[in-house]
Amino acid sequence: METNLVIEVDRVSSQQVEQCYHCHKCTAGCPIVGAMTYGPDLLLRMVSLGQTETVLRSRDIWLCVGCFTCATRCPNDIDIAAIMDGLRRMALERGFPAGERDALLFHRLFLGVIQRFGRSHEAFMLGLFKFLSRVPLMNDVPAGIGLFVRGKIPLLPEHFRAPAPVRRLFQGKRL
Ligand code: SF4
Ligand code: SF4
Repeated sequence: METNLVIEVDRVSSQQVEQCYHCHKCTAGCPIVGAMTYGPDLLLRMVSLGQTETVLRSRDIWLCVGCFTCATRCPNDIDIAAIMDGLRRMALERGFPAGERDALLFHRLFLGVIQRFGRSHEAFMLGLFKFLSRVPLMNDVPAGIGLFVRGKIPLLPEHFRAPAPVRRLFQGKRL
């Protein structure tokens, strides 16, 4: 069954939602599913049924971390991370609030850091996120120091300007 929502989600994600036969393998492997309300399989089912508002208001689309575990497990090669990305864009375009506290702030900061430096810089991004979201700043300092000492979190970004191909990706885009 192809509802208008399926057609639109296929278009924004370059995937084919209608190929899903709900084997549940994606949800069984998703590391975030415990925090989600529906999980990826059920979310795709709701897309198939045209439940636009429930899908676009869902916290699940904001909790997905784009790890691609689901895509590697899917027997139909459906890239659910791309679908989640498309659903987030649709939710923003239609004015639905992000279904998870501070998710939109994190989303914009992450993209802003990529746009500025060309890749993620955890120390900068998390420091800014904690400051702007008013999450207690000191909670993660011991873990942060441990990661810094082991060389896992560089203090400065590798580049201070994103390379041209990354800058081109963001041209004309509103974060
Ligand atoms: S693994 Fe693929 S086919 Fe199976 S439920 Fe998930 S998206 Fe659908
Ligand atoms: S990409 Fe998103 S939905 Fe897929 S396994 Fe990772 S967190 Fe779960």
